[in-house]
Amino acid sequence: MSAAPFKSTLQPEALNDDHNGLAAGSEDHTADFNISRFIQYLAEAVLIVNTDGVIECANAKAALLLNSIDRPLIGERWPAFLHERCLKQYQGLVKIVAKQVLSLQAGPTEMVLHCANGELKDIELSVSFLPEPEARLILILRDLTRQKAEFEQLKRQAATDALTGLANRRSFDEQLLQNWLQCTAAKRPLSVIIIDIDFFKQFNDSYGHIQGDACLRKVARAILQAMPLDAQLAARYGGEEFALILPHYNEIKALAVAREVQQAVRQLQFTDAGLPASVGITVSQGIATEINGQFRTSMALLCAADTALYRAKADGRDCINTSC
Ligand code: GH3
Ligand code: MG
Ligand code: MG
Repeated sequence: MSAAPFKSTLQPEALNDDHNGLAAGSEDHTADFNISRFIQYLAEAVLIVNTDGVIECANAKAALLLNSIDRPLIGERWPAFLHERCLKQYQGLVKIVAKQVLSLQAGPTEMVLHCANGELKDIELSVSFLPEPEARLILILRDLTRQKAEFEQLKRQAATDALTGLANRRSFDEQLLQNWLQCTAAKRPLSVIIIDIDFFKQFNDSYGHIQGDACLRKVARAILQAMPLDAQLAARYGGEEFALILPHYNEIKALAVAREVQQAVRQLQFTDAGLPASVGITVSQGIATEINGQFRTSMALLCAADTALYRAKADGRDCINTSC
C-alpha cells in the first residue's frame, strides 16, 4: 500500500481557522483532508487504518480512549492495541468487510483494548471498508467501561440478598444445580444445610423489625465466619432461613459445619443495639447428603434437608438433624 494521502492530525485546534473545512484555495481542500478533519468533529472515537493495520488518521476522541494523549497514534499498528484474545475476532471482521460481499460494515463487536498506559478497556468496535481512493478501514470505537461496570453491578445485585449481603435464593438454586451435576458426575458427596432462626417472630415482636433486620445481618455474618473456606455458598434462602452448599462434604463433615454455625449463633450478642445482655438467639438446622445416588434430583436433596429441619424444630429447637 502506498503512503497515506490523509492529513494525520490529532490537534483539534487545527480546526479553528476554518470550521467548515471548505476554505477556498486551501491546499488541504481535498476529499482526503476532509475525512481527516471530519472525524475530529465526530462524537465517537475514530481511527482510519490501512490494510496493514497501520493508523493513518485518528481523532482526539480516539487518542483519549486509547489513553494516548502524549503519544501520537499515527504510524502505530492498530492491532497492537487489541487484546490477544480479540485478534482473531478482529481479523474476522476485516475479512467480512474487505471481501465486500455481504457488507462494507461489520460489528459492533465487543473487544478488549490494551491502552497506551497499559490499562485494559472494554470497547465496542465497528469496522467499515473504504474502498477508494485506496483501501482503508474506518474503525469506530465505543468505550464500554461504564456500561460494563453497571452491568456487573446489576448482576451482583441480582444474585445478592440486599439485607444480609449473602447470595439470594436464585443464586442458591443455580449453584446447587451446578454442584449437584458436578458432584454426582464425579461420584463425590454433596451436603446441604438449611438453617432457621428459632422463635424469630417473637424476636421481632419483642424488639421490632429494625432490630430483627439487624439480627438477620448478625446471623449472616456468624454463618460466614463458621463456614469453611471450601464451602461453595451461603445464601439467605427465605425470611429467616439460610442455606449452605457443601460440595465434597459427607454427613460427618457437614455435621461439624452445622455445629460451628450453632456455636457462632449462640454467642451472638445484641448489647451494641441497646438490648439486654441476656438477649440471645439460636438456630435449628437440617442436613441432607447425597452420596450414593439416594436422591434423584437436587430438589429432592433440598427437600430432605427441609424435612430434617422440621424434625430439628420438633426436637425442641437449637438442634441439628440429618436426613437419615
Ligand atoms: P420457628 O422457631 O418455628 O422457626 O419460629 P419463628 O417465629 O422463627 O418462625 P415463623 O415462621 O413463625 O416466623 C418467622 C418470622 O420471620 C416472621 C417474619 O416476620 C420474620 N421475618 C421474615 N423475614 C424478615 C425480615 O426480612 N426482617 C425481619 N425483621 N423479620 C422477618
Ligand atoms: Mg422459617
Ligand atoms: Mg424460624
